[in-house]
Amino acid sequence: MDKKTEKSIQNKLIKLKLYTQNDYIFHIPLRYENETKLTKIIDIPLSTYILTEGVIIDVKILDNRFKNKVLIVIIKDDTGYLQLRWLHFFSSQITKFIIGNKIRVGGEAKRKQSELEIIHPRIYNINTKLSKKLTPIYSTIKGLSQIKIRKIILEELTKTITDTLPDNIVKHFNLMAFDEAIKYLHYPPPYNSLSLSTEKKHPAWTRIKFDELLAHELSIGIIRQDRMQKKAYCLPKNSKFIKNLATFIDNLEFTLTDSQQYVINEISNDLSMSFPMNRLLQGDVGCGKTVVATIAAIQAISSNKQVALMTPTEILTEQHFYKIQEYCKKLEIIVEYISSNKSIKDKKSIKERVISGEINFIIGTQSLIQEHIYFNNLGLLIIDEQHRFGVEQRSVFYNKGIYIDKNSVIYPHLLSMSATPIPRTLAMTLLDDMDISTIKSLPKDRKPIITKLISDDRREEVLTKIVKFIKNGRQAYWVCPMIVENEKIDLQNAVDTFEDIKKRFPDLKIGLIHSNLANNLKNEIMQSFRNGNINLLVATTVIEVGVDVPNASLMTIEHSERFGLAQLHQLRGRIGRGIDQSICILLYQKPLSLIAKKRLRAIFKTLDGFKIAQYDLLIRGPGDFLGTKQSGVNLFRFADIETDQDILQKSKEAALIIKKYNPECINPHISRWKKNDNYI
Ligand code: ADP
Ligand code: MG
Repeated sequence: MDKKTEKSIQNKLIKLKLYTQNDYIFHIPLRYENETKLTKIIDIPLSTYILTEGVIIDVKILDNRFKNKVLIVIIKDDTGYLQLRWLHFFSSQITKFIIGNKIRVGGEAKRKQSELEIIHPRIYNINTKLSKKLTPIYSTIKGLSQIKIRKIILEELTKTITDTLPDNIVKHFNLMAFDEAIKYLHYPPPYNSLSLSTEKKHPAWTRIKFDELLAHELSIGIIRQDRMQKKAYCLPKNSKFIKNLATFIDNLEFTLTDSQQYVINEISNDLSMSFPMNRLLQGDVGCGKTVVATIAAIQAISSNKQVALMTPTEILTEQHFYKIQEYCKKLEIIVEYISSNKSIKDKKSIKERVISGEINFIIGTQSLIQEHIYFNNLGLLIIDEQHRFGVEQRSVFYNKGIYIDKNSVIYPHLLSMSATPIPRTLAMTLLDDMDISTIKSLPKDRKPIITKLISDDRREEVLTKIVKFIKNGRQAYWVCPMIVENEKIDLQNAVDTFEDIKKRFPDLKIGLIHSNLANNLKNEIMQSFRNGNINLLVATTVIEVGVDVPNASLMTIEHSERFGLAQLHQLRGRIGRGIDQSICILLYQKPLSLIAKKRLRAIFKTLDGFKIAQYDLLIRGPGDFLGTKQSGVNLFRFADIETDQDILQKSKEAALIIKKYNPECINPHISRWKKNDNYI
């Protein structure tokens, strides 16, 4: 091979991300072709790759004036006839077909009228031996033929392929040897079903899925070990905390649910450790995460440490501020928030009081990162609606809390909260080393929201009913349609709706909120809604996250067919928080696409965020849940977190054994499975 061709092949391999032996061995065929046997013409199945032999009995060129010339060759064996057809060909090709000669061809047959036919068959040398294994078909790119890539991969397969697992594990879990499994998947024996690559049930598949999941498990173990070796302030359940907590609970207007108490305990135990907590608190919208986070904060503050809470929007910052201040009013805790409402002077003073340690609990949006706030002795960071933040923002926030104390690095405890539940299966394979606390139920006094699906034709009727409800003292949201990726039109919709309703019902106290309003205006409007000075709030999706106005018990969502499932669930979660029976009306416009129908049916049928998330996972893939934005991309290359739960379970067991008895195997195994994306 000359240098230039070699270079060009190298480039193609790089494009395919094939660099090392590991990359090649994991480049598992997409499918296989069977070139191990000859099929009699009468037995040829349709649409399956076969080889057959026959004697040429006719060679002709069909010359249709309107189309290209077509080459037809007819062969026969003792069972029947087969037509071969070329839609484009070289004249030199024709001379190879001599009537009376026997040829061997391969391809997928189709039936064309009464003829059995293969279009563009592959011609084989009749004297070569049939292969003993199935032939792999690899994913490749233009310019790198199957024959070429097959040769390159085969070369790697003939080198030694080490087994990174110790014998005891291989035996205990009854696994196929690694090299055997790999070779099997590249060159399966002919008796194996051709669906090997689609069903992925064969022990060879089990072995590589097992290894993949194990590598993931082990690497998380390492991250976890690292974390446990880091230092954090131990924030114990001291007497001050116990006293504060008693006062706090006494002041609450409700009793904590069992589920809340359970997670409070989990968090409280973590805070008592001298290594940093990394815990996700998840629970459906409205389940009461804020009060749980506040108790965690009180535990930290009772050890004279500061707490910072970051929220995705200013609306939430203020809401949390007022709520937490109310929750904590009997305690000697100084809570503050930073937002665009505050004057420069106020902000400056807040920053000073944070540095001095006077403020115990500071709440804010990303401004907590941007505003150069420095802490005196931060013990706990809380991120609300954590999936709203990028990985980068979260880590910048976290890093702010790291500092040096008497020559050692101290890390803060971290509590993240999310109302977008991570489905159980996904939670078990999280990329990060994170503990999860789940609030499983809503407070008991809640009446389940009634959801109604109503066609857009009845918008007027709905509006009149809502107005009637409002006149009877209820509060409502009217959510305006979302037009994907066009905020301007979204806004226009909301403004038009607002103007229209205002004109027709002049005595209604109606407000409008959308993302283009200045933050302090948004906050003011929310405050009026909260106080009952606004009865009907026309809104875009700015109210989607976290907003808590228990008295609002009605919601209409226009053009609900345009919203995503998680979004509908979040929006609906704004109601059903108080004592009134809440009603959510989903207006939709016909005709509905199949997917919109599915979404609306799901949201109509269940109020359970976990079920909705599970369903969403099925339609969107795990990327969205992890904030990686790669929706639809599978986390694993081979394993499937839904269908391979049993293998996952075993790999978890194996990880424990390896950590204990074969720690020397951990690194080689992880490095085999490390993604090669960072080569280029
Ligand atoms: P989310 O989990 O969605 O953040 P919030 O913390 O905003 O929910 O709580 C929703 C509402 O439920 C708040 O008004 C809160 O005061 C109230 N709440 C929290 N816990 C309970 C409880 N155990 N019983 C009754 N109401 C509760
Ligand atoms: Mg919340």
